[in-house]
Amino acid sequence: MSIKNQCAVRVRGLEKRFGANQVLHGVDLDVDEGQVVVIMGPSGSGKTTLLRSLNFLEIPDGGSIEVAGIRVETGGRVQGKQERLAIRNIRRRTAMVFQAFNLFAHMTAIANVMEGLVSVKHMPRNQAKKRAMDLLEQVGLAHKADEYPVRLSGGQKQRVAIARGLAMEPQVILFDEPTSALDPELRDEVLSIMRSLANEGMTMLVVTHEVRFAREAADRIVFMEDGRIQHDTTPEQFFSQQDNERISRFLGRIA
Ligand code: ADP
Repeated sequence: MSIKNQCAVRVRGLEKRFGANQVLHGVDLDVDEGQVVVIMGPSGSGKTTLLRSLNFLEIPDGGSIEVAGIRVETGGRVQGKQERLAIRNIRRRTAMVFQAFNLFAHMTAIANVMEGLVSVKHMPRNQAKKRAMDLLEQVGLAHKADEYPVRLSGGQKQRVAIARGLAMEPQVILFDEPTSALDPELRDEVLSIMRSLANEGMTMLVVTHEVRFAREAADRIVFMEDGRIQHDTTPEQFFSQQDNERISRFLGRIA
């Protein structure tokens, strides 16, 4: 059964405050299965908070979030067992790739990838090891399986982090500036893995300033400003909006 073009993510009226600072003002966003949505916008516009809210690393103050058919009405704090279960299920269906990689420093590359398979999916260790090796191969790092993160380059660490995310067979991957901690020469190796995932039909939300990736791999560009989605367009439209002062000012800054 094909489930393409169903809604993978549906956000309605999402609100988030940090103290008196209202960071998200009623964000609505739909992402279809298999879509790649790049989120751009000036620093402080709420991009990371939106992404982190989608798997409840931040608990929103209002609105609703639906991921892979699991819906949570948010309201500032988690209430009740059912809501906790729904959040846990959403977390299991989403993977997050962070700017700072967030690998376990005391574990080898393969142990990092195996961790969720063993502890969350309860896969037997030998099976998890084989699966983790396949994933490391997919990101071109089978030969680094036994290295600790400290011995890996930033690009390699991020590729291990992506393999670790893929191990959980997520329905959506959330990327939070996955290349911005990397030297320019290491970015391409991460972006090319992301491109392959996009081509394979993975649903992806990507906060990034990588214009080339956005142009080539995104189905849509969501432009945020002041905690609101100001534009939601195709890359062609987005990058040709020279007459839109906010977008051209933003693109001028990141060029
Ligand atoms: P962006 O990703 O677009 O740069 P963020 O979502 O990181 O924006 O931040 C939006 C606003 O929320 C900023 O004003 C930031 O200072 C604030 N903010 C983000 N995270 C926190 C936090 N944990 N505590 C307090 N304020 C935060």
